[in-house]
Amino acid sequence: MIDFSVEPEFQAKLDWMAKFVREECETMDLLWPDQSANFDTKNEPARRHLKPLQDQVKAQGLWACHLGPHLGGPGYGQVKLALMNEIIGRSSWAPTVFGTAAPDTGNAEILALFGTPEQKQRYLGPLMAGDIVSCFSMTEPQGGADPGVFTCKATLEGDEWVIEGEKWFSSNAKLAEFLLVICVTDPDKPLTERMSMFIVPADTPGIEILRNVAIAGEPDPENGHHAHIRYNRVKVPLDHMLGERGGGFKVAQARLGGGRIHHAMRTVGKCQRAIDMMLERAVSRTTRGRKLGDHQMVQAKIAESIIELEMFRNLVLKTAWIIDEIEAGRMPHGASRNYIGMCKVAMASVWMNVIGKALEIHGSLGISLDMPLANWFGGGMGLAFADGPTDVHKSQLARAYLKKATPAPGLFPSEHIPTRTAAALARYPDARG
Ligand SMILES: Cc1cc2nc3c(=O)[nH]c(=O)nc-3n(C[C@H](O)[C@H](O)[C@H](O)COP(=O)(O)OP(=O)(O)OC[C@H]3O[C@@H](n4cnc5c(N)ncnc54)[C@H](O)[C@@H]3O)c2cc1C
Repeated sequence: MIDFSVEPEFQAKLDWMAKFVREECETMDLLWPDQSANFDTKNEPARRHLKPLQDQVKAQGLWACHLGPHLGGPGYGQVKLALMNEIIGRSSWAPTVFGTAAPDTGNAEILALFGTPEQKQRYLGPLMAGDIVSCFSMTEPQGGADPGVFTCKATLEGDEWVIEGEKWFSSNAKLAEFLLVICVTDPDKPLTERMSMFIVPADTPGIEILRNVAIAGEPDPENGHHAHIRYNRVKVPLDHMLGERGGGFKVAQARLGGGRIHHAMRTVGKCQRAIDMMLERAVSRTTRGRKLGDHQMVQAKIAESIIELEMFRNLVLKTAWIIDEIEAGRMPHGASRNYIGMCKVAMASVWMNVIGKALEIHGSLGISLDMPLANWFGGGMGLAFADGPTDVHKSQLARAYLKKATPAPGLFPSEHIPTRTAAALARYPDARG
């Protein structure tokens, strides 16, 4: 049975969230608008303002909702999380206010899944409490999306691992309390057993941030949030490996699926907000004697945006449902993989299309920084690359389906009409009288 209804008790939670995000989180967006301000634990005024809001979220039982009870969260499941993230996605501060900000969410997930009791106590506890932020340091300048060419290595020297090499686009490294760094430890092993994951405290000697690269929407090109880092013989004790030796690939994979679908859920919220904005503008502004919304080209933009977002939202909800079915043991492990790939591919294009159309309907005001649309639009392409570029996901998706496809039985495709008609006539020779 397919049921799109929401239980009244849960709807009440969503209603509380919608009001709270609008009144409190969006206010924080205005007071501290830098894209990554929510990760800066040293911003005292913002932190003072944030804490009571986080307490309200906790009191509502809505804190860190991406984690199930076995990982220390309330565990609403992915479908409900999708509905919550739609609301959270409207504001850039809301993920921090609700304890669901990436990359900390994914990092918390793998610490909960693979961490030792000591690692959980030292790193996961404060991370879950929202007291610190973390960094995931995987991509390399020469490697990008291809882990097969990663060179950053960790070598065992006595009772320490020594890390040497460079990483690229390590988001929030300059603000993080610790970094999760994936390193080659066993170069002669197959790719999936070649790397290990390390927890590296940010004050460990030898971590050199070469530059903090900025992306569209960040104000200062020389002080962005995506670090190019050199690890100069950075030493960590043996107990700072996360997971098993050679298990780094598996640990990294465990965080990426969740990260991708959570971004997709929040994208629904951001695009919904853009549609709200385009509707308001269309009934407010008059040109050539008519409201914008009375012009057919504007109507087309509105209709296309609504349809595209509705299709995407349904894809995201179905994916969330499949993940819940897997959790409940009713679907096999891996059943969500293609769907998460579809969400990942669709996400950036839906974002750019819908927000782009909202921007266009606002004209010069839309591209100006008096409205949030231009910055949102610029950030959209980042979504296409973060957690792996769109093209890679398209390719993986196509290959998964191609693997299941069978070649045509003869010279022509199995849907070749003359061949099928001949077979039909052979079955019913008298059919045509
Ligand atoms: C906003 C943002 C935040 C990020 N945060 C982090 C982070 O915190 N930690 C981290 O480790 N990394 C992070 N990244 C890096 C991200 O993981 C990489 O951008 C991504 O893996 C792609 O690598 P690349 O940018 O070097 O592109 P490349 O790998 O060079 O790819 C460029 C293009 O080449 C093509 N291409 C590449 N590979 C294939 C393939 N297999 N099949 C077909 N086409 C292909 C595609 O068109 C692709 O867009 C972040 C990126 C962004 C934009």
